Amino acid sequence: MTDSLVILGSTGSIGTQTLDVARKYNIDIKALTAFSNVKLLEEQIRSFKPSVAVMYDEKSANDLKQRIADTNTKVLCGMDGLIEASSMQDAQVVLNALVGMVGLEPTLAACKAGKTIALANKETLVAGGELVMNTVKDNGVSLLPVDSEHSAIFQCLQGCPEKKYLKKLILTASGGPFFGKKRDELKDVTVKEALAHPNWSMGAKITVDSASMMNKGLEIIEARWLFDMQADDIDVVVHRQSIIHSLIEFQDNSVLAQLSQPDMRIPIQYALTYPDRVESPVKELDLTSIGTFTFDKPDYETFECLSACKKALSKGGTSPAIANGANEAANLLFREGKISFLKIGELVSGAVDSLPSVPIKTLSDVLNADKTAREYVYSSI
Ligand code: NDP
Ligand code: MG
Repeated sequence: MTDSLVILGSTGSIGTQTLDVARKYNIDIKALTAFSNVKLLEEQIRSFKPSVAVMYDEKSANDLKQRIADTNTKVLCGMDGLIEASSMQDAQVVLNALVGMVGLEPTLAACKAGKTIALANKETLVAGGELVMNTVKDNGVSLLPVDSEHSAIFQCLQGCPEKKYLKKLILTASGGPFFGKKRDELKDVTVKEALAHPNWSMGAKITVDSASMMNKGLEIIEARWLFDMQADDIDVVVHRQSIIHSLIEFQDNSVLAQLSQPDMRIPIQYALTYPDRVESPVKELDLTSIGTFTFDKPDYETFECLSACKKALSKGGTSPAIANGANEAANLLFREGKISFLKIGELVSGAVDSLPSVPIKTLSDVLNADKTAREYVYSSI
């Protein structure tokens, strides 16, 4: 069981649920961070008394400093602040629940400081791939998945004594709010419709990624790196109920699955208690009240982001960073009402097809690919 924890992105959907788990198990919180949500971060600081708080935005950091002048919490800001929080000497685990590429350098810093990393921030593993995994290996640290599908696979893998027995990973996808729809039915969908996820309550960016199925594309790449599997050995199946969180298939075609209510507090908690299992606030699974499980093939033609991610993975090098960077920009433009829903997929595919991929040797290779992909998006609209 984790005894001391830094939470990056503590004011978000994963961050607040992590604090629920920390409260229940008296985990000592060493640092909390946000982008600009001063009000919630102040409440969290008063409740959990971390020694460090990071407000990424400088103006909000100054505001926070004044509000909590009566506490012993030191306020930092910007990327330097996130890196300092990720490297704190007295913290055992860093849970990265930042959204987007901003999480990359803090993850690398946490590895170098010898921390166990619980990773929700999938974008940075997708973009950084080999660089992140090599940094994990070189520093002898553990990278534990928080994403529900990857936690499910990780849990199933506890029943696989040797990698050679494993044949395939099967990621489940809810299909999101637009499952079954074709391109002409998706032309005019609104941000509100894209944000209405049938099963999960999450931050805005990942909810739109679920609607476009970019999220599943990112998760294929995430699984490739977390579990060192080749793209051809990672399948996706649409499972509308979101009860089976993913499966593994062995050489003998026997399959193991992990099931639970769709509630992130189970994967978050497992990353913090691994290898132990403790009670959770999530209700028991009542299979008879669910009744039916369904499984469908994903629609790669309609959900272009999914095919673009597969292509990026097979191209290798900086292609996944390009897919991710293009999507981060396009996802935001869609939420701002500046582009249509279908344009997200067109931009991600366009970036993967037209931008050159180079091997990733350093952090700059990843950051440059990300920048070029964003520029591609802004110049294509
Ligand atoms: P949210 O948008 O709810 O929260 C993001 C957090 O990061 C907030 O604390 C936010 O601060 C902070 N933040 C956002 N942008 C920046 C920035 N530029 N610099 C510094 N801090 C920033 O996201 P989620 O919790 O939904 O998702 C977090 C990560 O977990 C994502 O990578 C997502 O894909 C992954 N994930 C999420 C799941 C979920 O159920 N939500 C499930 C599986 C994976 P502020 O509040 O001030 O804006
Ligand atoms: Mg997921």
